[in-house]
Amino acid sequence: MPVGRLRPIYGEPPSKVLMGTLDPTDWRELRTQGHRMLDDMLDYLEHIRERPVWRPIPNEVRARFREPLNRSPGDLTAAHETFMSHVLPYAVGNVHPGFMGWVHGGGTPVGMLAEMLAGGLNANLGGRDQMPLEVERQIVQWMRELFEFPESAGGLFVTGTSMANLIGVLTARTAALGDDVRHAGVATAGKHLVAYASAGVHESVTRALNICGLGSDALRIVAVDADHRMDVDALRCAIEADRDAGRTPFLVVGTAGTVDVGALDDLVALADTARREQLWFHVDGAYGALARLVPDLSQRLKGIERADSLAFDFHKWGQVPYDAGFVLVRDAEWLQRTFALPAHYLRRDRGGLAAGSPWPCDLGPDLSRGFRALKTWFTLTVYGTDRLGESVSRCCALARYLARRVEEAPRLELAAPVPLNIVCFRYRCEDSDRINAEIVVTLQESGVAAPSVTTVDGRLAIRAAIVNHRTAREDIDALVEAVLAAGDAKAASEPRRAREAS
Ligand SMILES: *Cc1c(COP(=O)(O)O)cnc(C)c1O
Repeated sequence: MPVGRLRPIYGEPPSKVLMGTLDPTDWRELRTQGHRMLDDMLDYLEHIRERPVWRPIPNEVRARFREPLNRSPGDLTAAHETFMSHVLPYAVGNVHPGFMGWVHGGGTPVGMLAEMLAGGLNANLGGRDQMPLEVERQIVQWMRELFEFPESAGGLFVTGTSMANLIGVLTARTAALGDDVRHAGVATAGKHLVAYASAGVHESVTRALNICGLGSDALRIVAVDADHRMDVDALRCAIEADRDAGRTPFLVVGTAGTVDVGALDDLVALADTARREQLWFHVDGAYGALARLVPDLSQRLKGIERADSLAFDFHKWGQVPYDAGFVLVRDAEWLQRTFALPAHYLRRDRGGLAAGSPWPCDLGPDLSRGFRALKTWFTLTVYGTDRLGESVSRCCALARYLARRVEEAPRLELAAPVPLNIVCFRYRCEDSDRINAEIVVTLQESGVAAPSVTTVDGRLAIRAAIVNHRTAREDIDALVEAVLAAGDAKAASEPRRAREAS
C-alpha cells in the first residue's frame, strides 16, 4: 500500500505518523530558503572576479569546524550562513580565473544546476534498470566516438584519473596473468611483471602498481627527450633488458599531457611498441585527452585511438564540477573479467528492476555510485563540444601568450617548452629555488593569482597551468606583473639581507 494511504496508528492523525521523516513540515519555508541558497551560488559565480583567488584561513574560521557532534536539530538558514561566511570564502579558488596552480577545472553554472538535479534524484548507479544508467551509457558511446574506439569498448565514471589509472593497471594485470589472479593472487603466477612510463608520469600510476600488489618498483621510469616526451628507444632497450633478466613486461603507460610541463608522449610510437611487444597500452590523458575536442590539437593525440585503456577527467578541461573521472577500455570484456562478482543479492533478470546487465558494478570496483553522468551530460549537451573545445584551445593560446611575455621580460626565463597549457618559468636571480618559491607564496597570499611550483630538470620553477575557461589575457598580465613585482622586491631586499648576515 502506498505510504500516503497508511492508516493512522493509535488514532493519531497521519501528519503525526509521518513526523519521523527528515522532510520539512513547511515546504514553503524550505523552498524560500532553497532559492536563497541557489541565488547565493549564482551570485558567487557571476561575481567571482571581484574576489581574491585564495585567502589564508584565520584560526577562528577553522575553529568553527572543530565542534562536537550535534545531537539536537539545527537550523538550515544558520547552516547556510555558516557555509557562506566560513567555507565559501576559503576554498582553493579553482573557480576563479586567476587560479593556475594545479590542473583544476573551473566548473560551470550548468554543471552546478545539474548537480542539484542529481542530488534530488539521489540515484545509485551501481546497476538495475533505470534511465540514469542510460545517461551514463550515452556518455560511454559519445566517448567511444570521440576517441574512435570500437563498438566493443566500454567504460564508466569514477572519482578521477587516479582511480581510472588504477582500473587500467588492474585490467592490464588480468590480461597478463589471466582471471586466476583474482583468487590466486599475484605471487602464485610466478612472474615478475614490469610496466613502463616516462619520467613525467603522474604519481597515481606508481601508486596503482603498488595498490595492485605488483609494487611501485615494477614501474620502470623511462627517460624523456628535450621535449619531455618518453624516449621510445630507451623504452625498447628497457623492455629488452627486462626480458633478458627473466622479467615479464606487461604494460606501457603513455601520458597525454604531463602534469609538470604538459608534454604529450608520441602515442603512435608507443602503440607500435606495445603491439610489437604484446603489452597492454594504457594512456593517462587526465586533462590532455580532451584536447581531442580541438581539431588542430587532435593531431597531436594521434595514437590515442589505439589505447587498450584510456583514463581522463571531465572535471579538468571538460569543466564538469568535481568529481567526474572516466575510464574507457577497448574491450569491455576485460573490465568484466577484472571486476564482475557473482553475488546472489546482485542477481540479474530479463525483466523488472534487475534487468539491463551488465551494470557498472560489473565493470569497476564500486557498487554504490553517484550520478556523475548527469552533470557531464548537461555540460556536453548545453555547451556542445565545439564550445568546450574552444575553451581548451583558448587555454593553450593563453599559455603561448604567457610564454611570450616571459621571453620578452629580461628578468624572467622559461624553464621548459610550452607544448600545451602549462608554462614553467622563473624569476632570474641568485638563490633561484628559494626566491621563486617565496614569490609563489607571496602571490597566493595576495589573492591576485595562484600559480604553484614544480621541479624541472632538478630546478624549481613557477608553474602556471591554464585550465579554467574563465581565465583571460588580463589574468595572465596580472600574473606576470605580480611575479615581477614580488621578484624585484625580494631581489632588492637580498643585498640588505646579505649585508646583515655579514
Ligand atoms: C590530474 C592528473 C591525474 C590524477 O587525476 P585525478 O582526477 O586528480 O585523480 C593523473 N594524471 C595526470 C596527468 C593528471 O594531470
